[in-house]
Amino acid sequence: RVAVVGSANLDLVVTAPQLPRPGETVLGDDFRMVPGGKGANQAVAAARAGADCAFVGAIGGDGFGGLLRDNLAAAGVDVAGLRTVDGPSGVALIAVDHAAENCIVVAPGANGALTLDDADRDAVAAAGVLLLQLEVPLSEVTRAAGWARAGGAAVVLNAAPARPLPTELLDLVDVLVVNEHEAAVVAGVFTDEPAALLDALVGLVPRVVLTLGARGAAYADRDGARIEVPAPTIDAVDTTAAGDAFTGALAVALAERGGLTGDTATGVLRWACAAGAACAQRPGASTALPERDAIDALAAA
Ligand code: ADP
Repeated sequence: RVAVVGSANLDLVVTAPQLPRPGETVLGDDFRMVPGGKGANQAVAAARAGADCAFVGAIGGDGFGGLLRDNLAAAGVDVAGLRTVDGPSGVALIAVDHAAENCIVVAPGANGALTLDDADRDAVAAAGVLLLQLEVPLSEVTRAAGWARAGGAAVVLNAAPARPLPTELLDLVDVLVVNEHEAAVVAGVFTDEPAALLDALVGLVPRVVLTLGARGAAYADRDGARIEVPAPTIDAVDTTAAGDAFTGALAVALAERGGLTGDTATGVLRWACAAGAACAQRPGASTALPERDAIDALAAA
């Protein structure tokens, strides 16, 4: 089982010929509401990739909360750990122009009010893999990681949005998953060289997975393993949520294989890359997160 402790947002997306300047009103065209938030996206990604998955998070008592809950449940995610708190749900207000340039404001709402309790401790301890991101309070991320460690679950941290991390949290992480920007911020090393990023990060955590967009992904661990896996060649339509698809699938592969080592990393990364690529082949964000069949097909190609 995979447990995710993290965020759920509703993305309110409007397209317009151009983005408004400060003080300006522009007439938009298309409007969509799309469930998002890195936590909920990765929980849906893990469920679609075939895992028994539980989500722990918070929504508001507004109409958006119900949409977020229904979306997780429809993907087969266990939402017993999803609580309703006072105030609004997390929302992202997104304007996109016809050149696909965007402008985003995120209001964390309920995500910022997540406070874990004893029932969450049991849910985390019962999982084989705990998957975390950084869109809920760091105190709760660290608390969940401590419970997982005590219960024997592997702690996978996707350090997004990027920020420097305290040693207290880093010491509880088994696998850190980052893109190149996040890697540089967490490591405090500003270089374009993936090998240098990996070297710096294995000084902080035992295992690191670095995503490289269309180039695939790389793995490094403290035993000295260094592995790089290319992404499947695809026609990318929309890479939004590709990182969430990758991370969700990685957590599933870890839960199924009982961990990540230099011996299993090639297979695990190949499958996670197939999930990221399958997501990038389809328009949309959480709506494009792939099912297991689609991941298997790309991984075998
Ligand atoms: P993020 O979206 O978090 O920045 P990346 O851009 O590194 O993450 O993408 C995550 C994963 O999705 C990559 O490791 C890769 O496997 C897959 N992916 C993303 N873009 C493409 C692409 N254009 N072609 C093939 N695979 C892709």
